[in-house]
Amino acid sequence: MDISKRRCGNCAERRLALKNVRGEFKSPWRDFPVAFVTVDLSLWTCANCGNSVMIGGDAEKIDAAYELSVRDQAAQFIDVIRSKTGIGSGQLAELIGVSPQHLSSVHSGKQRPSFSLWNFLKMIATDPVVMVKKANPNLDIIRENILLRA
Ligand SMILES: [Zn+2]
Repeated sequence: MDISKRRCGNCAERRLALKNVRGEFKSPWRDFPVAFVTVDLSLWTCANCGNSVMIGGDAEKIDAAYELSVRDQAAQFIDVIRSKTGIGSGQLAELIGVSPQHLSSVHSGKQRPSFSLWNFLKMIATDPVVMVKKANPNLDIIRENILLRA
């Protein structure tokens, strides 16, 4: 296919160019309502409107980029939480309700986190010290009056 003749599906301009969409490309992916590409990903992108056009083989490339991105993000969330709070990986696993083995596989990138695990890690990583305290499974919800305040 001659890419110079291809029109943008959004604005119909013929100004497609390969662009690294790292940090810009996001869409629903697997169980993620929105996943973000945070690794290098080259896509034919409209120079006029910024729309990325899927060409044959791009679906696999995008899938691989998301796969790498969410694994990498989860590992970074874990690093941020651990370094800012000083808690051990066993304590963190207990806090978020997964086995230490699973957390370790996610941290090393061997396993993809589910959206709920990724999202929980992201939430804690935004404000680790406060969130780790809040996520404490031993927190007494009656004494802390959380339900009555809600
Ligand atoms: Zn366009």
